[in-house]
Amino acid sequence: MTIKKISKKDMVKLLADWGLDSTVLIPSRDEGVIEMAEWDGKDISFLEWYRNTVIPPKSSFLPPMEEMFTFQKNGNGYSIEVSAEQRKRIIFGIRPCDAKAIAILDKVFMDSCEDPYYVSKRKNTMLIGLGCNKPYDSCFCTSSGLSPTESADVDLMFTDIGDDFLIEEITDEGEELLATAGAVKKASQADVASLKKARAAVEGMVTRKVDTKNIIEKLQASFGDSDYWEKAADKCISCGVCTLLCPTCYCFDICDELTKKHGARYRGWDSCGFSIYTKMPMENPREEKWRRVRQKVCHKYEFFPMNYGVIACTGCGRCIRSCPVNWDITHVLGSVPVEQPIKNR
Ligand code: SF4
Ligand code: SF4
Repeated sequence: MTIKKISKKDMVKLLADWGLDSTVLIPSRDEGVIEMAEWDGKDISFLEWYRNTVIPPKSSFLPPMEEMFTFQKNGNGYSIEVSAEQRKRIIFGIRPCDAKAIAILDKVFMDSCEDPYYVSKRKNTMLIGLGCNKPYDSCFCTSSGLSPTESADVDLMFTDIGDDFLIEEITDEGEELLATAGAVKKASQADVASLKKARAAVEGMVTRKVDTKNIIEKLQASFGDSDYWEKAADKCISCGVCTLLCPTCYCFDICDELTKKHGARYRGWDSCGFSIYTKMPMENPREEKWRRVRQKVCHKYEFFPMNYGVIACTGCGRCIRSCPVNWDITHVLGSVPVEQPIKNR
């Protein structure tokens, strides 16, 4: 793999070059809320303050609310117009944990079924990773098989080495994208040594650890332990924030907006943390809070890995940072009883 580099001073030029052909999204701050948003063509101050987004980049593929189609009454029938995102996009600055989260969502929306709304956005979007240089205390990516500089799920990977970024070309598309960019040079041996040093330093900054060894078996064994799950769920107030902001959660609801002759269908984020999420005409299998908290944890660490072979938690720490009552998934994972009799499902 060829490693290249670019001076930070040349980043405006690089993004502007990419912007000629694609919409460039970068970390942006609006009233304190950070999310990936369209670049204005000038401002790269995020390189100074950015740690991670509050709203995860899944919102660029599975928006909080999106129009699926509109329909119109014509005589005796209806015509339908399907909404589709076709713009070419480049997301610059995605963190390794969030790129992994997109790879996890790909399994749901591209591999096990083809969701046309997700696929049209995903196929037209390149992911340009930016390694972390200041992880939060709540981050635990190294316990989820990742690292703050992991490059597996992006097209190009940028690592900060001071005045420059080193760039690894991960995919052919990434290599092609870089080939057309001015201001990019080949890295020297000394630069590559700096890359290794920068990586080792930042990995050491992720100090929160959680033991996920045999976690599937442990969760299976504890599934019926209602005492444990009631205690684990005790302080949760079911606000749903942890799931809405989780980069790998993908529950959605669908609703129609109707007027006399036309209407639109929308889908928007939903959460298994809400008590009415599983409400059915005859019953609600997760009416009690502890069942919903158990579902959230087991979905990520038991059901998803059993179905897809990968844990659906990247250790991004958003659920810890955003919880209004300091509920902490690492404490729950760290205290799952090893063996319990099945009492209550
Ligand atoms: S953010 Fe905290 S309080 Fe809200 S649902 Fe999640 S765990 Fe419960
Ligand atoms: S469960 Fe929490 S730490 Fe894991 S991916 Fe979701 S928000 Fe991040």
